[in-house]
Amino acid sequence: MTDLSHGKTYPPPPEWQPRAWVNPQTSREMYDASIADPELFWDEHGQRIDWFKPYTRVKNTSFAPGAVSIRWYEDGVTNAAYNCIDRHLETRADQVAIIWEGDDPSESKHITYQELHDEVCRFANVLRNRNVGKGDRVTIYMPMIPEAAYAMLACARLGAVHSVVFGGFSPDSLAGRIEDCGSRVVITADEGLRGGRKVALKANVDAAIDRLPPGVDVDHVIVVRRTGANVAMDPLRDVWYDAAREMVTAECPCEHVEAEHPLFILYTSGSTGKPKGVLHTTAGYLVYTSITHKYVFDYHDGDIYWCTADVGWVTGHSYILYGPLTNGATTLMFEGVPNYPDMSRFWQVIDKHQVNTFYTAPTALRSLMQAGDAPVKATSRASLRLLGSVGEPINPEAWEWYHRVVGDDRCPIVDTWWQTETGGVLISPLPGATTLKPGSATLPLFGIRPELVDADGKVLEGEAEGNLVIADSWPGQMRTVYGDHQRFMDTYFATYPGKYFSGDGCRRDADGYYWITGRVDDVINVSGHRMGTAEVESALVAHASVSEAAVVGYPHDIKGQGIYAYVTLMSGVEPTETLRKELVGWVRQEIGPIATPDLIQFAPNLPKTRSGKIMRRILRKIAEDDFGALGDTSTLSDPAVVDELVNNRQNRR
Ligand code: ATP
Ligand code: MG
Repeated sequence: MTDLSHGKTYPPPPEWQPRAWVNPQTSREMYDASIADPELFWDEHGQRIDWFKPYTRVKNTSFAPGAVSIRWYEDGVTNAAYNCIDRHLETRADQVAIIWEGDDPSESKHITYQELHDEVCRFANVLRNRNVGKGDRVTIYMPMIPEAAYAMLACARLGAVHSVVFGGFSPDSLAGRIEDCGSRVVITADEGLRGGRKVALKANVDAAIDRLPPGVDVDHVIVVRRTGANVAMDPLRDVWYDAAREMVTAECPCEHVEAEHPLFILYTSGSTGKPKGVLHTTAGYLVYTSITHKYVFDYHDGDIYWCTADVGWVTGHSYILYGPLTNGATTLMFEGVPNYPDMSRFWQVIDKHQVNTFYTAPTALRSLMQAGDAPVKATSRASLRLLGSVGEPINPEAWEWYHRVVGDDRCPIVDTWWQTETGGVLISPLPGATTLKPGSATLPLFGIRPELVDADGKVLEGEAEGNLVIADSWPGQMRTVYGDHQRFMDTYFATYPGKYFSGDGCRRDADGYYWITGRVDDVINVSGHRMGTAEVESALVAHASVSEAAVVGYPHDIKGQGIYAYVTLMSGVEPTETLRKELVGWVRQEIGPIATPDLIQFAPNLPKTRSGKIMRRILRKIAEDDFGALGDTSTLSDPAVVDELVNNRQNRR
């Protein structure tokens, strides 16, 4: 297989050594110890959180066919909000917990741990007054404002289970999620504000509730005032949060919950099909997000840490809120978008708040790259020390740009591979320890045992390419699909019995580094050669005229499958026949004749999920001429893109 990073490597910068939590040797020792004796390792790290009643049993997990059961620290008693807030008050009451940066650059707020405590208690009291208690599900459909964090932590404080639905979802999607988990309380805002545009959140909640089937009821809608819009309020059901907040105190005891008490339900982003209601529980999740936040981002007291995700995605749950707050960190929460008011916004925010660690997604980087270097270079970014990536494979071309232009050749990049299901990062570099290879998520984290298996489940050793599975449990793992344990077992443990199947394809190189090649469902088989989509896409993106690419297979008489490439060009580049031929030749030269694209369609837009991931299953249907069966499209961010692609489909040869 071709290494599109052309063998370039980046050792940890020497100036990292005095400070980093681990160096190449200690990280290796720690990893080996975690694999040799997981009970001992995770017992030690069980102390990362505080317990009302200590556990005596660390790990009780089974991936056995038909009897999958995952329990960590099971007889301990704790509370997530206590660990994120109360236990820090003695030493950090006046330290900033959350820096909030509004959509409008003139708006920001600093919230201390004491203020966070008081606001979360008030929100919890408002919920408690509406009969929300242990085990009740609460749907949160909010913009990125501090109240979203207060609401989540308020649920945790009461032992209630939050289900956050991204504010970009439609009333239909929201209704499906309210119904699936049976929430009787919904928390929302009058309107959201993103990129200067208003989002009718409360109106969407009303429309969603109207669509609920008979017998499914929402008793209370709590509405936070964000824009001050005049929205319809049902006097029996709806309440303004600011009014309710005035009626309650800033003290609310933490419910004592068992380690395995559900903390939240979160639906996957829907790249591969109908979203799954992933359930995470309390203690193991906190231990895992806390340890990974500390080591992957080499977090130290005083660092300013910014993850640009929305709290509607798992990245927002684990690495804006729970991981950082468990560690007593200062975490930045951003309401806006990367290109508003202009393409420099991310970098301006970094300068404004002196951000040290910046964690974002390849989709954002590719769109920013399109605008060139000038918007980045107009800012200082001198405070930056570390960069991170999550959500999709990062093409080596985008990686190099991120490193060179954003990080001024100074900042390591942690390419973090994980899933909603895994709760936290499983494969990632550690910045003080790992030599980086652009495009590779590098090595497994402590306690993680990745394996590559072939289609028959045979474990592949050494340099190999196959399906990525995890051989044993880790504390942050999802426990079940909400309300459907059978679906949980069928989806993740039936394909390769006894192992957790990620659904992703992966290659391991001679140094033991992992390279995610894309979804297994997306693998292309050309004349008997299996090929991941990521590699061909990265080759295309490496061409100066290409900003984004998505590659799928389609039935081909001779080769079995042909390669169909959808290509988005850099702004200002004209799509021509000459360019089409040039791109075909380019991929041939970069990877080899076997990867030669058969058809290239220039596509100004690609179908993406609302979290910005390319939905290849839809592109595959278009390439296969199968327009009737596009599958679940409810998580598509712009359905019009599909029509545009269908109309411009390339004729087969
Ligand atoms: P669904 O499961 O509903 O199809 P989804 O898989 O997009 O949606 P997420 O849990 O948000 O839902 O995404 C996890 C997936 O994202 C991984 O399985 C992987 O394909 C991809 N991914 C995440 N981070 C990386 C990374 N650093 N490198 C490569 N791929 C990544
Ligand atoms: Mg998935």
